[in-house]
Amino acid sequence: MSDSAKLANEVEIKIEAPRLGEPFLLTPGPLTTSYDVKKAMLRDWGSWDADFSAMTADMRKRLLALTGDTKGELDCVPIQGSGTFAVEAMIGSFVPKDGKVLVFANGAYGKCAAETVEYIGRDLVFIDKGDYFPPRGDEVTAALEADPSITHVLAIHCETSSGILNPVEEISEAVYAAGRKLLVDSMSAFGAVKLNYEEIRYEAMVSSANKCIEGVPGFGFVIARKEELEAAKGNCHSLSMDVHAQWATMNKTGQWRFTPPTHVVAAFLEALKAHELEGGVAGRGARYEKNRDVMVDGMRELGFETLLRDRWLSPIIVTFFCPADTNFVFSKFYDLMKGKGFIIYPGKLTVVDSFRVGCIGQMDEHVMRNVVMAAKETLLEMGVADASPPETALKERAKLAA
Ligand SMILES: *Cc1c(COP(=O)(O)O)cnc(C)c1O
Repeated sequence: MSDSAKLANEVEIKIEAPRLGEPFLLTPGPLTTSYDVKKAMLRDWGSWDADFSAMTADMRKRLLALTGDTKGELDCVPIQGSGTFAVEAMIGSFVPKDGKVLVFANGAYGKCAAETVEYIGRDLVFIDKGDYFPPRGDEVTAALEADPSITHVLAIHCETSSGILNPVEEISEAVYAAGRKLLVDSMSAFGAVKLNYEEIRYEAMVSSANKCIEGVPGFGFVIARKEELEAAKGNCHSLSMDVHAQWATMNKTGQWRFTPPTHVVAAFLEALKAHELEGGVAGRGARYEKNRDVMVDGMRELGFETLLRDRWLSPIIVTFFCPADTNFVFSKFYDLMKGKGFIIYPGKLTVVDSFRVGCIGQMDEHVMRNVVMAAKETLLEMGVADASPPETALKERAKLAA
């Protein structure tokens, strides 16, 4: 048994069924949060008050403790808005106006990052690998050799649109071997998948409140090298998204520059405490891995097939091919699953029909067993005898090397 699996077994996490008949959200955020997290929002905080500033400081400290940075090289800057706002803030603040960004995309979030680079007027080199093929280290090396003017590489850690866990370690090695800088969108992975700064170097990374830390939506955060934060002065195209300015003000006054999502921060602090009690990144990751394994094993027994081979499956969200059986209609499957208390997620592949099931949020293996039971009953109700995918889907998958 791995250390993280042991840890998860030792720590008992209390998973409560959502109250008020709410369904479980098997989605990659917003996700099902604990009652304590929701309860933390029942109080109002003054954004200028010292009590709230102390909460912001505590939150930043707790987030930094998850990075594995023992030398104090990193700092944490929260940014109002959803995760995409933080991605835009990171690109706009750390890439100088004459910089050039290489984005390897293998899904919607990679494409969105590339669009952001163009939107804010930085030079872009875009390599689209399709729906899910991972960018490999040697490909990054080749692309950087081909274009010495590339200053930054932007990598997506877990590409949530397929659920693939991209090889950031390999990418980071290739980027720094070529003397360039790495920015990471670790939105859906941070807090559950190891991204140890001392093993995997980056200049900056982003995540948000409503993913693996299990808070509610309302802000994202940038974690960056202090040197880069200093150097970011004057880069940003936007006043409200200027990470340097937010950082400098926060360090000086303890406050956010514009109205902070106070209730969301209070909920997030509660979520961070629960994350620590569960055993931090290792404990949280182990629960999600167990969720994935139980759910994937059960779905495979029903005949469903995953888009990705095991080596690329993240513990965040899993893509399944829709069954070939003509009785299977996704919208009907969705509604029937919802009626049984589980909200699943549509697929995002362009070539074959698919759907996704998330493994993150306040859920454990018992919940995941019930998800599989619900899927089994739903197939019966729909008259689908066999959940196997069409040949075209399997051919598509065969292209992805083990
Ligand atoms: C969730 C997510 C984002 C941000 O999405 P928002 O809808 O803006 O919160 C960005 N990148 C990845 C990989 C994500 O999973």
